[in-house]
Amino acid sequence: MKAWILTQQAPVEERPLTLADLPDPQPGEHEIRIKVSYAGICRTDIHIAEGDLPLVKSPIILGHEVVGTVDKVGSSVTNFRIGERAGAYWLHSACGHCKYCRSGQENYCPDFKATGWHADGGFAEYTLVPDAFAISLESVQLEPPKIPPLLCPGIAGYAAFKLTEVQSGESLGLYGFGPTAYYVLKVAQSLNIHTYVSSRSSENIERARQAGAKWAADTSQDEMPVDLDAAILFPPAGNLVEPILAHVKPGGNLVLAPVSSSPIRIENYSENLWGRTIDTLYQLKRSDAEEFIGLVNDLDLHLGIHLFPFEKLDEAIILAKQGKLEQPNAVIEVNA
Ligand SMILES: [Zn+2]
Ligand SMILES: [Zn+2]
Repeated sequence: MKAWILTQQAPVEERPLTLADLPDPQPGEHEIRIKVSYAGICRTDIHIAEGDLPLVKSPIILGHEVVGTVDKVGSSVTNFRIGERAGAYWLHSACGHCKYCRSGQENYCPDFKATGWHADGGFAEYTLVPDAFAISLESVQLEPPKIPPLLCPGIAGYAAFKLTEVQSGESLGLYGFGPTAYYVLKVAQSLNIHTYVSSRSSENIERARQAGAKWAADTSQDEMPVDLDAAILFPPAGNLVEPILAHVKPGGNLVLAPVSSSPIRIENYSENLWGRTIDTLYQLKRSDAEEFIGLVNDLDLHLGIHLFPFEKLDEAIILAKQGKLEQPNAVIEVNA
């Protein structure tokens, strides 16, 4: 099969991903093989390619927003059939027997393995996925090229949303408005939760308004107009934590979504932190993926994708890094 492989990390402008010919992978007893149709490019792929995250397997095939068709199954697989639309996302596997795995919180499993980082991902014609962690996409009514972003920003946004515990009729603040926040807004909207969006980008403020935000502006210039029942912070800006908490009501949660952050300091405990909870989004679990995929048909999704041919992946990654995509999400077409 043809696959883009990474053997040595470097800035993506130096094209560390190279197109290679590899033997077609054969599924083990509990694996399915997906013939990849579309795969999305995520910021994390850039972090792995460039060395912000360590290279834990080499060569590695990146890509963890993978959509395709099951074309081969291992001898013990019973939950997938050949021809079924299925996908792979960030959670590749977990140990299955630690206290976290036994309680449905495999995102905390010490043996958590990520697709396209610990195990080969979807920038290839075929990929193998453990049957217990692959996700069926049979129910999803969106056109297939629009599905990959559901599998990373979509699931991650849903997971962050769940952590807020915000309820129907309440108000949710979204600080930062990339694709992940977009999906949170859409889930919130479907549950009659009012969203208040802060972004420094006028383009994203406009996008938030069009998507249905109750209010969208740059809170470094305009003050948040209400006190919030909960909030999510997306960029790694620790300096925003206390100003956001100042607008979260006692009893409310602030969820921090980034994987890294500048230092976080709370100056005024009594006014801003007392009574609030700070939680962090840490990896993903199967229930996040299954619940989110189960409700996407009810969401009014219009997030654009910029489609690239498989052979242009290296260029697509450069454009994604430089913020030069024509649409918020980059997707490559593999076996369309
Ligand atoms: Zn991702
Ligand atoms: Zn475990």
